[in-house]
Amino acid sequence: MNKIELTNVSSIPSYTISNAARLLHISVHTLRMYEREGLLIPFKKESNQRLYSDKDLERIRCIRKVLNEDKIGIEGIRKLLSLIPCWGIVKCPAKERKVCKAYTGYSKPCWMLKHKNNVCESKNCRDCDVYSSFGNCESIKDKLKELIVGSSK
Ligand code: SF4
Repeated sequence: MNKIELTNVSSIPSYTISNAARLLHISVHTLRMYEREGLLIPFKKESNQRLYSDKDLERIRCIRKVLNEDKIGIEGIRKLLSLIPCWGIVKCPAKERKVCKAYTGYSKPCWMLKHKNNVCESKNCRDCDVYSSFGNCESIKDKLKELIVGSSK
C-alpha cells in the first residue's frame, strides 16, 4: 500500500463555503476563484450549494503553499496540473487518447476539458483518481513515482 492510500483525511463533503473559507483564513471570493480557475472541484448539492471536505481543505492548503511560498501563479499551477498523465491512470484506449486534448495539449487540466465520446464522458471528475491523487502536496511526488515505476515495468 502506498502513502496516498494510507492518508486518513475525510473525503466527506461537510463544510459550507463560508465555513471552509473561515477554516482556511481566506475569503469566499478566493475559494470561488480557485474553482473558476480549475484548481478545485467542490462537491455540489442538487441545490448547487457547494460543500468541502477535509481533503478539499488539504488541497487548498497545498495550492496556497505553492502560490505563496513557491511563488508559482495560478496559470503556472494550471499548467502543471495539465501535465498529469491522466491516460496512465484512467487507462483510456489508445484510439481515444489520440484525439483527446488532455493527451495532445497542455493548457488545462483534463477535468476542465469537454469530453465527448470517450471514457471520461460520464465520469465524475471529483471522484476520479486523477483529480484526487494530485490534491495534496505530499502525495504528488508519490503518485508520479508510482506512475513512472509502473510505466517502466
Ligand atoms: S474523469 Fe475527469 S479527472 Fe478523470 S481523467 Fe477524465 S477528465 Fe480527468
